[in-house]
Amino acid sequence: MNQNTSPMTTVAELFQRMENAYHQTAQANGFQCRGCADNCCLTRFYHHTLTEYLYLRQGLSDLPESDQKRVVKRAEETAAMMRKLESAGQPVRVMCPLNEEERCILYTHRPMICRLHGIPHQLRRPDGQRQVGPGCADFDRQCRIDPPRLLDRTPLYMDLAALEKEIRRQNNFEGRIKMTIAQMLIEEL
Ligand code: SF4
Ligand code: SF4
Repeated sequence: MNQNTSPMTTVAELFQRMENAYHQTAQANGFQCRGCADNCCLTRFYHHTLTEYLYLRQGLSDLPESDQKRVVKRAEETAAMMRKLESAGQPVRVMCPLNEEERCILYTHRPMICRLHGIPHQLRRPDGQRQVGPGCADFDRQCRIDPPRLLDRTPLYMDLAALEKEIRRQNNFEGRIKMTIAQMLIEEL
């Protein structure tokens, strides 16, 4: 897909707001992610928006060509390993192909969940129900505030949904997306 998206600055602004909200809530709880054995970069998260797909791909295309080739090759290997584990009925925990030496090489272009994971949150669903989610295991080990301060994902999700609608309209895209990072790096939409 050719990127037809002037709102990428807006995506960057929204992602910055997510990061700010994350840091404020982390600080309020006294939490600091210093990496851990659970390492969420090993978790098979699925991503569902064209916005995140295009933004990640923009980050990939900004890398030097040799880095792009290395990342794409690793993403192919990662996707193959995930398929193998899944078909064997084993837990699918494979390091994200963007993680190099414990650092995210597309940190500025990483998707939403990579920016929000780890601290407890609440979400007001469209039907009015309030949903609350926990922090990661290391959050529980580090933080003793009871109840914990929650990151309210509601306005962030709503803004992403509005942006997604506009970016889909501009790109004339109506498909359903459910992709891992590895798939986002190697599959064309
Ligand atoms: S967010 Fe939590 S699970 Fe992820 S690396 Fe940090 S401490 Fe570990
Ligand atoms: S995109 Fe970056 S932060 Fe997200 S799982 Fe991959 S390496 Fe980790």
